[in-house]
Amino acid sequence: MTEPTPTATPVAIGFTRDPAGARELLARASGALLDDRRPLADEELAALAALPDDQVVPLAALAHQVRLAWRGPNVEVEGILSARTGGCPEDCHFCSQSSRFDSPVKATPFLDDAEVLAAARETAGLGASEFCIVLAVRGPDARTLARLTELVPMVRAETGLNVAVSAGILTDDDARRLAEAGVHRYNHNLETARSFFGSIVTTHRWEERAETCRLVREHQMELCSGVLLGMGETDAQRLELLSQLRDLQPDEVPINFLNPRPGTPLADRQPIDAWEAIRWIALFRLGLPGTILRYAGGREVTLRDLQAMGMTAGINALIIGNYLTTLGRSPDEDLRMLEDLRMPVGALSAVI
Ligand code: SF4
Repeated sequence: MTEPTPTATPVAIGFTRDPAGARELLARASGALLDDRRPLADEELAALAALPDDQVVPLAALAHQVRLAWRGPNVEVEGILSARTGGCPEDCHFCSQSSRFDSPVKATPFLDDAEVLAAARETAGLGASEFCIVLAVRGPDARTLARLTELVPMVRAETGLNVAVSAGILTDDDARRLAEAGVHRYNHNLETARSFFGSIVTTHRWEERAETCRLVREHQMELCSGVLLGMGETDAQRLELLSQLRDLQPDEVPINFLNPRPGTPLADRQPIDAWEAIRWIALFRLGLPGTILRYAGGREVTLRDLQAMGMTAGINALIIGNYLTTLGRSPDEDLRMLEDLRMPVGALSAVI
């Protein structure tokens, strides 16, 4: 069980009693992923997840090599726009946009075309290649779908950006219409493992999320399906989630860390330890070698000064600017970090 660690208390790094065994495990994973280009089995990932804390640096180093070998040096930068905020009828316990919790986020209507286009132009100006329009809804109703199918071609034509959409659970017909409108990538997060989902959401099922992910692929949009770590799930459940994602074969996985929001049922949970976050970034890269792994919400409060280390532990994409309901650090700081790391910003080629 991974219990959250109060951020004020320093955590001693655990040392391995079997350094030769740890080296051998890492060497075998390296041989599989770099020499044989073979994905690891679930059991191999579980063995790596059990390495002690003093092996996180070599684990992260291997994950970085795997990212370079499978995805290259480029980092894809994306801006997201909360085009309709708050008032969501669902009860995801981490989310300040749910109307069921007494959170400070208030419901706002769908932004108008000019506001969406202005945000898209600003995103393009930062050098981003992807712009994601996010709506806090269970799924799109007829009016919302009609707006999206008008907006997406407009944003593409005005800015040249690839347009992604996140609008909840889809029917087959919704997915077809969004694909026809030119949606490049659809975001629908699994968030957490199937076995833990019922502790976090009671108004819809994990299977509904997985089904939407399958429809996105079926209609040939790229699938973006993210995770939210640090909600009280066990290490075994993180491995379960990784395995479930591997089955869905997403093109992109945003990695979010819980940033506890006031008024939500998870408001009092502490962010996970930064070292633990680096370990899991590396494990997600080793489990999803050819996938875009994107830094998303909660990285500032969780990783603090270790944010650059995450970029050398398997991350190869960033959301820059603000998140849906929380402020990210400034785009300039992120772009400077990439410059300091000598990581070029650019669109990533198709998944290998
Ligand atoms: S995560 Fe999405 S579906 Fe859940 S409450 Fe928030 S906006 Fe609604």
